[in-house]
Amino acid sequence: MVEHCVSSAIKQRLPMAKELKENKQYYSILQWIVEKGILDEKGEPFSYVDRPWLIDILTDWTPQIVLVACAQVGKSVTFMVKVSFALKHFKFNTITTFPTDDDVKEFVASKVNKFIQANRHEFQGMDSDNIERKEVDGRFWFFKGTVSKTAAISTTADLLVHDEISRSDQGAINTYKSRTKASQYKGRYIFSNPGTERDELDLVWQKSNQREWVITCPKCKDEHYLIWPDSIDLERKIRICRACKEPLSDDTLRQGKWVAQNPGSTISGYHISHLMCVWISAAEIIEDSEGDPAYFNNFVLGKSYSPGDLSVSKTTILDLWTPKPMDIGERFIGIDVGNIKHYVLRSSKGLFKIGRFTKPSDLDDIIAFWKPTSGVIDAMPDATLSRYIVDKYPFMKMSYFMENANNPQTIVWWGKGQGDEASNKSGVVYSHRDRILDQHLTNMIEAKHLIGLETDKEFQLYIKHYETLRREKVVNNKGIERYIWASTTGEDHYVFADLYAYLAMLGSGSGVFYGEVTQADIPSVLGADNIYDVSRAFAEINQTNDQN
Ligand SMILES: [Zn+2]
Repeated sequence: MVEHCVSSAIKQRLPMAKELKENKQYYSILQWIVEKGILDEKGEPFSYVDRPWLIDILTDWTPQIVLVACAQVGKSVTFMVKVSFALKHFKFNTITTFPTDDDVKEFVASKVNKFIQANRHEFQGMDSDNIERKEVDGRFWFFKGTVSKTAAISTTADLLVHDEISRSDQGAINTYKSRTKASQYKGRYIFSNPGTERDELDLVWQKSNQREWVITCPKCKDEHYLIWPDSIDLERKIRICRACKEPLSDDTLRQGKWVAQNPGSTISGYHISHLMCVWISAAEIIEDSEGDPAYFNNFVLGKSYSPGDLSVSKTTILDLWTPKPMDIGERFIGIDVGNIKHYVLRSSKGLFKIGRFTKPSDLDDIIAFWKPTSGVIDAMPDATLSRYIVDKYPFMKMSYFMENANNPQTIVWWGKGQGDEASNKSGVVYSHRDRILDQHLTNMIEAKHLIGLETDKEFQLYIKHYETLRREKVVNNKGIERYIWASTTGEDHYVFADLYAYLAMLGSGSGVFYGEVTQADIPSVLGADNIYDVSRAFAEINQTNDQN
């Protein structure tokens, strides 16, 4: 019926209009996806049923965008589609960075190239062989790792995209800032699983408008976003309204909207947590909360984590002191090995004996006298004594510090010895040095046990060793920040003897983390949407350099 209205003059111009339509420059990415039949990298139509919150991020063309998000939500793919559209229709030259060159290779091969192949009709002539550079209609899309043997890309661009910025070299990220100076748009999209506080992601997020996904409770009509632990009923293992405590349905979560918590900022900020994800159960979130706090914050809540203020002072220790007898029930022993060996004896209630010795045979005497049911001895710096001890006493374990690459949220686990120790039938206890120290010190601050020691010189020394502990920010060889515990004097032996006694107690079954790591535990915990293995990156960043 439109036909009747079309004048002959317009009719004459129809071929040109048709051509215009074919070469149409789109301004709406959603219209583009629908009209051009754009498919995802798997060749399937896009579906945002369970992730409606991605649509606003997809269609947001604010030059400065920051997305702070948990694992597995599709952020890399969302930004890939966004850039593809901007390249083609806004003519934006773009630079995308990943933590490493290997991450670039994996992402380009398994996501970008697949996306181009699925949408050949829009990206004719785009080369899928070149990993570092894509071209469409005279516009370029560069890819680069921040940890790279070759120099940063020196070309100018309209748009910078930093994927997994919290796991990228922060120095290299800075060098890119000047690349968009000549552009009108000066775009910069950064997104990541967060890391520590005050890294680039966190700083930009703090300055942004900080949008949260706000739901409306169907019962009491309260509008709020979900937070841990208020939005979860720990008993019933369900999501609940923070106001009226009624259960929240998946549809209530889906029908949320983005609301700025810091309105007025020109930086567009979004935060995604597993609490918003309908396919992740409350039970899973509760389970994750019981593991490593850094992991839970970064990968589940999508929050940065820096337990920077944690410290155990003389006051903390004196507050734990009790005249009551602590030698009740099972006894656990921890031994720190050095020229002088330090030991701590405790029960599940608290410490009752500490001391020092030099000769290995002294330890036999101590064990014969106190009859501990479980013990942990430092395997470093020299495993001679610890190997002798674990061979002789089946209840003794050797301690090694390392990260669990397969299950990064696990901070303590049993295992058979490796290498030389593999033939050793006695067990080994592995733990993540800084995380288990976090936990041990937190237990002291929260008075989970008491100290029933004589107030003698040995106790003074015990306090002194704790007082030398400092949390230090270190930058690893990838330029990524993390926190480690260090001693200002190197004299922290009682801290570690105490820690080993704690591990011994956990190992006896009083702990929540224990159990042998079986094959079933080994598959990666994250099917990461960020194509490279986030859990691997997490483990690498937190690699423990054995210092004790
Ligand atoms: Zn309510």
